[in-house]
Amino acid sequence: MLAQRLQGIPPTIFSEMSALAVRTGSLNLGQGFPDVDGPPEVIAEAVTALETGRNQYAPGIGIPSLRQAVARHQHRHYGFDLDPDREVVVTTGCTEGVAAALLGLVDPGDEIVVLEPYYDSYVAMIQMAGGVRRPVTLRSPDFRLDLDELRAAVTPKTRFMLVNSPHNPTGTVLTAAELDGIAALAIEHDLVVITDEVYEHLTYDGHEHRPLATLPGMFERTLTLSSAGKSYSFTGWKVGWATGPAELVGAVLAAKQWLTFTSGSPLQPAVARALDEHGDFPTALAKDLEERRDLLCTGLREAGLTAFIPAGTYFAMTDVSDLGWDDGTAFCLALPERAGVVAIPAQVFYDHPGAPGAGRHLVRWAFCKERPVIAEGTARLAAADLSA
Ligand code: GLN
Repeated sequence: MLAQRLQGIPPTIFSEMSALAVRTGSLNLGQGFPDVDGPPEVIAEAVTALETGRNQYAPGIGIPSLRQAVARHQHRHYGFDLDPDREVVVTTGCTEGVAAALLGLVDPGDEIVVLEPYYDSYVAMIQMAGGVRRPVTLRSPDFRLDLDELRAAVTPKTRFMLVNSPHNPTGTVLTAAELDGIAALAIEHDLVVITDEVYEHLTYDGHEHRPLATLPGMFERTLTLSSAGKSYSFTGWKVGWATGPAELVGAVLAAKQWLTFTSGSPLQPAVARALDEHGDFPTALAKDLEERRDLLCTGLREAGLTAFIPAGTYFAMTDVSDLGWDDGTAFCLALPERAGVVAIPAQVFYDHPGAPGAGRHLVRWAFCKERPVIAEGTARLAAADLSA
């Protein structure tokens, strides 16, 4: 009974693997969500909002105080001077931001260059918008962007690039040279760039995230998306935002008004407070996540899997051919019974997972979990028979 716009698109792997974890009582090192919530003061602000009558529709564009807080955040971190009434829109998580951006901007047949492995919602939403994806693969083992391949992916039909950095699932943070290459190509071909920057504050070892919109000639052609979920450990709140030139932000709002109409009212003042008053939270979280990344990667190594050390995000990738497997999905499906652990097979994020440097053998592990969970998960892996 599915419409053509959804045909060929499987259920999202994250729901599938989290359901598998629940069903088998396994530790969930799959879906990326922390098991400790963000700042209690921010939760208290949401409770106050619930109890003081902030329960009816917010303006579709988002409440003024949150849009102003987003504008201040973008100024503080990146130097943008945004008009909160025209250049900021609140979305229901970055996932709605991606959906509204694509539905609001893409015409049938338009080509969109995306980094592969891609986040699964991009594929679904490009298809629902009638667009055509042109993947450019970040190849293992180092997952760098090859600028010649990027250039080759651009055709006369290309109108957009959808760029995710820090990149889920590889943990790549694009370098200055890679960003410059993307910007040069976007300007040369007059492309609009949509960026997913939800892990903007979660970078490690001194790697720094730089938004594409900060590059010369890029602000006017870039729609920047982010959210509070990852930065403040409130992934279930689903509060995100799009920023950029008024005509791009306006296209997001034009579509968003018919999707959710408006986003959850009582959470918006709380997120405004998080951005304005708890800017140190993401910094401390990143320091802590860096240690948990190392704990996970060490534990994986002891279990026979060498992780590619990520520069950002919640995730580390491994190649399960280290253990003799030639298929990461088969590995992940066997894992609950073998070890009582769930991870994410990365091959679902590729058009051609069997291509050289692509993802048939790759498995993604989340380290946004508490240390005892990571320690127990990796101890289970080390004790299990994981051979193919
Ligand atoms: N972003 C999260 C991840 O990559 C999952 C979010 C979702 O399930 N849609 O694990």
